[in-house]
Amino acid sequence: MRDPVWRPYCQMKTAPSPLSIVAAEEFDLITADGRRLIDGMASWWSVCHGYGHPAIIQAVEKQLSRLPHVMFGGITHQPAERLAARLVDALPGDLNHVFFADSGSVAVEVAMKMAIGYWRRHGRPGRNRFISFANAYHGDTTGAMSLCDPDRSMHSGYQGAILSQLNCSLPSDDRSTETLARLLDRHRTEIAGVFVEPLVQGAGGMRFHQPETVRRIRRLCDQYGVLMIADEIATGFGRTGTMFAIDACEVVPDIICLGKALTAGTITMAVAVARSHVFDAFWSDDIGDALMHGPTFMANPLACAAANASLDLFSAEPRVAQAAAMQPKLQTGLEPCRDLPGVIDVRCHGAIGVIEVESLGDVESLRRRFVDAGVWLRPFGDCIYTTPPLNLPDKKIEQLCDVMFNVTREHLLRGTPADGLRKVVK
Ligand SMILES: *Cc1c(COP(=O)(O)O)cnc(C)c1O
Repeated sequence: MRDPVWRPYCQMKTAPSPLSIVAAEEFDLITADGRRLIDGMASWWSVCHGYGHPAIIQAVEKQLSRLPHVMFGGITHQPAERLAARLVDALPGDLNHVFFADSGSVAVEVAMKMAIGYWRRHGRPGRNRFISFANAYHGDTTGAMSLCDPDRSMHSGYQGAILSQLNCSLPSDDRSTETLARLLDRHRTEIAGVFVEPLVQGAGGMRFHQPETVRRIRRLCDQYGVLMIADEIATGFGRTGTMFAIDACEVVPDIICLGKALTAGTITMAVAVARSHVFDAFWSDDIGDALMHGPTFMANPLACAAANASLDLFSAEPRVAQAAAMQPKLQTGLEPCRDLPGVIDVRCHGAIGVIEVESLGDVESLRRRFVDAGVWLRPFGDCIYTTPPLNLPDKKIEQLCDVMFNVTREHLLRGTPADGLRKVVK
């Protein structure tokens, strides 16, 4: 019998059975056979305070018995009102209008519709394409797929079936800045906006860039009169060492997408937040000017309750400072990997640690080695990386880094004996 569950990002025919998880406590996943693994992924960047935080559980439980869900068309509720106001407060500039979506990819779709709709309401219906950057990842739905790196992303097999966008290198030096400027100039009547993952490109290759690169994008968007859309679905909520990556860049995008850690890894939710001029373009007496979008489960009260409780924790506890402080710890712990054969780079930013290698080789055996060593990681592409909970204690950071070093070493040297291994548990 073939598996009734069609799993993500895997060849169902050849992939090994997935790991069965029955519970999670603090920083650990607990397997069906009773092992504890440090979650070095924080469940795809989302579990920012660790698992089972009592403040979040209480907030969700309280909301569950009162109002677990209600449609959002024509109805509102306090958890959503409160969350929107708090996000507006936390974001810089006049990012004042929160549209609730049910996943990051959908928030990206909504941002695309906001940008295209903005230009239509300004009498420029031809402006319906976007620029995104090499190695970009913006999600898995068809609109979002079109914004991913067209050649190197996992979606390249859909070329021709999805929207055709423009893609160029990030403006990290004079030449690439000039290229972006030329692209904006040549396509000025077609471009609605520029999408960027500020400071850290995630699933497209775990690459970092400078705040100045993000500022250049803002300046060029202003110069050529197109919207700038920041996709902070991965970087938002402290991950890069500031609440949002754009805070470190001192840039205000026209639209920002947030997701992943928004609900601290409990319930799916994302948002697209627009600045006043974007919102105002849709403001008229004509229903035809409205933003026609409304996912069934948008602004789910349980998700809003979790997000509100998470924001409380960000104010009550030094979460963002912890993320910033993790960078040197990860860098120290992972630096020895640089000397291993086949390692190209070791880089850390906030609570993100990356070992880039020439080739992962047999990735399934590498993944298995990590599980055997008591750590949950999911290397992909040419990266072995960690995005742990932001409050991971020092001892666990050391343990995680030691396992990353030892397993990477063993894997790259293909099973050399255990001599020369660093002590794993300190
Ligand atoms: C994860 C991610 C998305 C997609 O979010 P989903 O909730 O998985 O749909 C979009 N953009 C970035 C930068 C992401 O990291």
